[in-house]
Amino acid sequence: MMPEELEILIIGGGPAGISMAVEARFAGIPKDKVMVIEKTDRICWSIITQYPDNKLVTANYKGFTAIHHGIMRIGDISKSDSLSYFNNALFENDMNIRYNETVARIGLADDGKFDVVTDKGEYRAGICVVAIGILGKPNRPEYPLPRTMRSKIHFDLTAPIADSDVLVVGGGDTAAERAIYLSQQNNSVILSYRGSDFHRMHPDNRQALLSLETAEKITIFRNSIITGVERSKTGPRVAFAGHDQPMVFHHIVYCLGGSTPNDFLKGAGIEFEGETPVIKDGYETNIPGLFLAGDLTAGTSGGSINWAFKAAHESIKHIIESYLGDTAAGA
Ligand SMILES: Cc1cc2nc3c(=O)[nH]c(=O)nc-3n(C[C@H](O)[C@H](O)[C@H](O)COP(=O)(O)OP(=O)(O)OC[C@H]3O[C@@H](n4cnc5c(N)ncnc54)[C@H](O)[C@@H]3O)c2cc1C
Repeated sequence: MMPEELEILIIGGGPAGISMAVEARFAGIPKDKVMVIEKTDRICWSIITQYPDNKLVTANYKGFTAIHHGIMRIGDISKSDSLSYFNNALFENDMNIRYNETVARIGLADDGKFDVVTDKGEYRAGICVVAIGILGKPNRPEYPLPRTMRSKIHFDLTAPIADSDVLVVGGGDTAAERAIYLSQQNNSVILSYRGSDFHRMHPDNRQALLSLETAEKITIFRNSIITGVERSKTGPRVAFAGHDQPMVFHHIVYCLGGSTPNDFLKGAGIEFEGETPVIKDGYETNIPGLFLAGDLTAGTSGGSINWAFKAAHESIKHIIESYLGDTAAGA
């Protein structure tokens, strides 16, 4: 079969991919020239799996103040309203999206177009946008984890944990939100954090966490270094530096952030400077026509939803000016 020909192929149906597609449609790129490929069966998979159900999705997140330039924007809303917002955007803008399809490789052809290979087929595109986020690949601790304890050691919130002793590891917003959520589910929660001050945390999360500590609903281990985790009958046994006695928990929840899917990006020929990909005007990479979006453009700790929206607007503006002026004008 001949590969499908597109003007813009967007890889990933999260906030970045959806807002890129919306911006492209608003800029006049016809529906059959823009496509989003999403590896799961729904858009915004990271939000669905990583956010606690009762979470308030905040417009300003992780120090990223919401700046509204583009078509999409959110204020402080519930998780379910945020998902409805994205689904409406998809529906109202009549977007072309393929689900359950994973992009495996991006190749650059001699004519400067991209040959994109998925587990289901091939595409050719003049512009390729990588919007796969960093949340799909959570960071792991440096010490080994017992394989037999997999059902007790978590990197997301999909497992229903209640009435248990839980250790949450991390010191960012995700760790705070999970600790708070788990404490509301009647768990006895200890938060283990390497630092002494939660300076990276959103002030609302920090305040909520410290209030629960004061109310003795969450215990915080500050300057806490975990040296190892072993198997025990009840659950993972955790050794802390400076403590003779290890502690046993029913569950451990790691919130150590995500890592840029470096191998995928490097495989596409994208240059890196240290840990981060080199990004030029409009979030273009060193390869002309190959763009990054969303969390991949926001440094190693990731960005926010409104950051993704703003970057998508700037990116599409650049793409139209530099590459697709005729397509948009002729729409
Ligand atoms: C617990 C938590 C709470 C947060 N709270 C907030 C908040 O309150 N406010 C806020 O603004 N931000 C918040 N964030 C950050 C926000 O979720 C991210 O900045 C945002 O999701 C980034 O969007 P993205 O599209 O770049 O990546 P993602 O949302 O990760 O989307 C990437 C998409 O790409 C798909 N994908 C991955 N690989 C492939 C592939 N090879 N082929 C095809 N598809 C692929 C994935 O399935 C996914 O749907 C939070 C993050 C976490 C973890």
